[in-house]
Amino acid sequence: MRERTAGRGFATRAIHAGEHRDPTTHAHNTPIFATATFTFDTAADKEDAVDRSLAWEAGHYFYSRTGNPTNRALEVKVASIEGAEDAVVASSGMASVTSTLLAHLTSGDHLVVGDELFVISRVLLDEDFPRRGIDVTSVDMTDLTAVEAAITPRTRMLFFETSTNPHLRIADIDALAALGRRHGLTVVADNTFLGPALVRPIAHGADLVIHAATKYLSGHGDAVAGVVAGRKDLLDPIRKQTDTFGQAASPFSSWLVLRGIRSLQLRSRAASMNALQLAAYLEAQPQVDWVRYPGLPSHPDHAVARRLLGEHAGGMLSFAVRGGVAGMAAFTDHLRLCDIGVSLGDICTLVYPQPKRGGLIRVSVGCEDVEDLLEDFALGLSFVR
Ligand SMILES: *Cc1c(COP(=O)(O)O)cnc(C)c1O
Repeated sequence: MRERTAGRGFATRAIHAGEHRDPTTHAHNTPIFATATFTFDTAADKEDAVDRSLAWEAGHYFYSRTGNPTNRALEVKVASIEGAEDAVVASSGMASVTSTLLAHLTSGDHLVVGDELFVISRVLLDEDFPRRGIDVTSVDMTDLTAVEAAITPRTRMLFFETSTNPHLRIADIDALAALGRRHGLTVVADNTFLGPALVRPIAHGADLVIHAATKYLSGHGDAVAGVVAGRKDLLDPIRKQTDTFGQAASPFSSWLVLRGIRSLQLRSRAASMNALQLAAYLEAQPQVDWVRYPGLPSHPDHAVARRLLGEHAGGMLSFAVRGGVAGMAAFTDHLRLCDIGVSLGDICTLVYPQPKRGGLIRVSVGCEDVEDLLEDFALGLSFVR
């Protein structure tokens, strides 16, 4: 196999890493290895593959829960674009969160987490972990003094999202990683809301980076998958945990994510440019109460965002209109182009109204023509009294 990605740029690695022509057929694209099991010429070959697989060595195959070549191609690609030694894929973003945390924490341990986290991570940490004797303290990750004050002698891990949901607070990854290192903690960043085309947490000192590959990595809203990348010694217990918990990724989902990542940089930049224009537009409208977008000077973490993200501040924005929940519904229910739906990172714009948050509207800005998005938002706003 020709190694053609070492030392190359981000887009080149996103397109080529982990993939090569099929050695038997010369098929250009990576096959979907739809097989439960793998077969061997000899008993000795079988024994070798099983021994390596059950030592959770990547790249050896005997059964697809433990390892599969399509899943492995995705691991190699994600490791390459995150600047990591290796990666482990799983059946969902939550599978990656769970296996990562539980592979590195045990009863009696304590972890410090962001006070704004993806809702199911929140449920895992608040309801499931205490039951298992793992204590959790939630703090505002943009308040470094509070983060340090929450660390105890039993603290093992710092877990936060690089951009939070839905208020889009941007974590100062360098500062948090330095703090974690000083206290001997494993620093884990969920980078789902930004993605590796915009920021690569490992280069900023994080130990492990998690993605709901369902979102930006897939990019087309057609797969559910998760991945964690980082140092191999930290990933080995996660690989094992993913297998023992039965969280194997589907090769078909991995294939969709492989395809999605090839256009990740193009999509991330296009979505960021659209989001900046929409956010600036919204901020200038009298019907809009407030707008949160890290690329706007009005954002509380704008300086951190500029340092970490440069000019592409991501595709996510949140805002609220006059009239609270009634205003929110007046806006969302009159949109004609943008769909109302949860999830994010899709090439299509998705609008997620949150009446329980006082009418907050979260937008995952897609890659449509920005004029059409602006027209649709203007239409929605015209119904806000
Ligand atoms: C969606 C999401 C997850 C979970 O991913 P699934 O693939 O839905 O399980 C984890 N973290 C963040 C920040 C997310 O947005």
